[in-house]
Amino acid sequence: MAREKTVEHYDVVIIGGGPAGLSAGIYTGRARLKTLLIEKALVGGLATYTNEIANYPGFPDEPKGETITNLMKQQAKNLGVEFKLTAVKSVDLTGEEKIVETFRNKYIAKTVIIATGGRPRVTGGIDEENYLFDKGISFCATCDAAANTDKHVVVIGSGDAAIEEGMFLTKFASKVTVSVMHDEGIMDCNEIAKNAALSNPKMAFVWNSVVHAFEGEEHLERVVLKNVKTDELIPVSCDNCFEFIGYIPNTELFEGQVTLTNRKYIPVDDKKQTNIDGVFAIGDVTDKWLKQIATAVGDGAIAGTAAEKYIAESEIFEEKIMQKEKVGLIYLYNAIDQDSREFLSHVEKIENQFGSELVVNRVDVYKSTGIADRLKVESFPAVIITKEGKIATTLYELNDMQITEAVKGHM
Ligand SMILES: Cc1cc2nc3c(=O)[nH]c(=O)nc-3n(C[C@H](O)[C@H](O)[C@H](O)COP(=O)(O)OP(=O)(O)OC[C@H]3O[C@@H](n4cnc5c(N)ncnc54)[C@H](O)[C@@H]3O)c2cc1C
Repeated sequence: MAREKTVEHYDVVIIGGGPAGLSAGIYTGRARLKTLLIEKALVGGLATYTNEIANYPGFPDEPKGETITNLMKQQAKNLGVEFKLTAVKSVDLTGEEKIVETFRNKYIAKTVIIATGGRPRVTGGIDEENYLFDKGISFCATCDAAANTDKHVVVIGSGDAAIEEGMFLTKFASKVTVSVMHDEGIMDCNEIAKNAALSNPKMAFVWNSVVHAFEGEEHLERVVLKNVKTDELIPVSCDNCFEFIGYIPNTELFEGQVTLTNRKYIPVDDKKQTNIDGVFAIGDVTDKWLKQIATAVGDGAIAGTAAEKYIAESEIFEEKIMQKEKVGLIYLYNAIDQDSREFLSHVEKIENQFGSELVVNRVDVYKSTGIADRLKVESFPAVIITKEGKIATTLYELNDMQITEAVKGHM
């Protein structure tokens, strides 16, 4: 008989323990929110596979990636974040309570932060797995270009990323050989990048080619390309190979719930919130321009803080704003708008008129639009009258008489 899952409650569940998830945990832990971080492989994420991180601010000695992420993990633990090393198998994020399930447990959370990152697409060439990351196959020119100064590198791919990163590599490497699967002169990148690459003296091209195999002793020494028309094998000796044939975000779990772009990334707003209230996404899994540790931890800081505000607002919203005991008046205003400010005195008059029979809440949307968003109000000032914890009337054209009548109508 299947064992029943243990149910546990948290304020925040973070899915993924890379730099983005760890940073979010540091912020939610520090805000004293009960936080669980679930990681299915290595805490530290993709960064742990890198031997030298030269561009993360504050670490001039170019430490291993795991040196930096271990410090993040320690900091999160010190701040009370709990860790579970297991894979998240399913989620139900659409309700007020968010459900995250692993093989054995069911976690119910007020907010969920998705930090599942992604994985570089690989070629599938023979013995590729023997040379991944620091053994000769890299996926990040920004990270590894300098280590290839005066070396010969092979670039796989001809899309925008491949050609732009290949051009960047020519600033360091002595030669960049690009494997392109199309006929001579045809590439998948934009025309400007293509023309710049074709006229770059450090760049050479092997047309109509795909990867057949990777060869070498401890470290990669050769990429064996194959001509797709003749099947001829073309061994290319090199010091390193950079694969730029795409990146796959780890979003399979969220399909059908969280909105995804056509390339399966998660689009977020400036607070890292997804299309679902209380569900945030950060780091490489999001639709973003620069995928680096520095940007991942920045995302984590934003989402951690936004999650804390979301929970605080939820409590105020349920208990105070949408109270059920009396008729309520909610005045939504923008403190930097003069008309909005001036109408505050009218609200006070109405409040005095009804005394203890009316509960009045003033919500300044300048600091946060969270409560207005929950009330689906987009223009300010506005007045909402509530009855028994539900919206009864929404008014945008404000005058005392009309508001007074509306309140009386619901008494
Ligand atoms: C080879 C390489 C070298 C790099 N070098 C640098 C560098 O020098 N400098 C730099 O700034 N950046 C570098 N980067 C980029 C950097 O590593 C990433 O941008 C960063 O790790 C992104 O962090 P993240 O937390 O968003 O995702 P990730 O680090 O990918 O972490 C996501 C985590 O989520 C976990 N996860 C996924 N699905 C689940 C699930 N269902 N349940 C539980 N856990 C799950 C994964 O196991 C993973 O640990 C490099 C990347 C690579 C590949």
